Amino acid sequence: MTQPIAILGMGQLGWMLSRAGERIGASVQLLDPDAPEQPGPNTLISVESEHWPDNPGTRQLRAHPGWQNPNALDILPNRIQQKTVLDELQLPTAPWCRPKDDDQAKDLHQTLGPDFLLKRARGGYDGRGQLRVKASEATPLPDWKTEAIAESAIGFDTEVSLVGARGRDGRCVFYPLTENYHRQGVLTVSLSQPTRFSALQRTAETMLTKLMDHLDYVGLMAMECFLVGDKLLINEIAPRVHNSGHWTQEGATICQFELHLRALLGWPMPQPETRGTTAMVNLLGMEHQQEWLAVTGARLYWYNKAHRPGRKMGHINLQHPEPQRIADWLRELPLPADYDESRAWALERLSFEG
Ligand code: AMP
Repeated sequence: MTQPIAILGMGQLGWMLSRAGERIGASVQLLDPDAPEQPGPNTLISVESEHWPDNPGTRQLRAHPGWQNPNALDILPNRIQQKTVLDELQLPTAPWCRPKDDDQAKDLHQTLGPDFLLKRARGGYDGRGQLRVKASEATPLPDWKTEAIAESAIGFDTEVSLVGARGRDGRCVFYPLTENYHRQGVLTVSLSQPTRFSALQRTAETMLTKLMDHLDYVGLMAMECFLVGDKLLINEIAPRVHNSGHWTQEGATICQFELHLRALLGWPMPQPETRGTTAMVNLLGMEHQQEWLAVTGARLYWYNKAHRPGRKMGHINLQHPEPQRIADWLRELPLPADYDESRAWALERLSFEG
């Protein structure tokens, strides 16, 4: 009998995991983080997010014999511990330090340069819980500085992420590096272009393998990096399926959600093959629009969540063997004006492919 899987979390990542599971015959149950049901003793428990509320139910899950990846989930959600483990493994990240009680901005500027970010150790993501501190603006440091890391602002050329999975036997498979565009700290567009970053692929894979091996990790993990010249600096590690891997639903023979489940179950994990170029557009803070569906190539995933400004409401994947078709569809896609820069960014890259 197939071992059941429970996912802590009922958001879009949980939904897409359970949908992928249904297709391949894996049983996936979603657990409400506010009052999780306790799964049977034979169940494997994974998460859709590394941040969950602390309550008696989640504490009980953490102690369940089927709780997966205790090392990664104890260490990585805390930025101080995440940065520390990356340093120990000599994996390059943006220069950082822990602000002390009596540190003023000028003390940190001395260590980190004229522009740094304070990032809360816990709970912050997508640019939340972050403050940019510029020497020119004399910003006072907030009270929470001692529960944060301070990190140099990086003048990167672009942002890329590596998504891959490690199986129970320690074997890893990866997707090609994906290029990501963020608006105010939140991903708007991802592009997977087959050969664009092939020169960096091996290095990136070696970096993430080292971390997954160290944590004895099983399942899918994402490594977000800044690219500076030909050097990768890790920005953040996510021990879960990741927004920058959504393109794999149309762009790869095995999508990231299925790959995570296969890894957990110890099922076959051949190297996924990719289908040329794929673009993914996040639908942030938008109401549902049937006009998106007038674009032939638009594969819409709508999360059916209550509308809030800026909230991730859905995404659209665009995949075609000819990148110019993707560019045409992207031009046709009805998007608000604050997507102009993100769209122009993607169209410029697609135009290089001819
Ligand atoms: P995070 O929540 O840490 O993933 O940050 C979200 C986004 O903010 C990143 O993808 C970058 O676009 C930007 N960002 C975060 N940290 C830095 C940094 N040290 N230097 C420059 N940009 C950053």
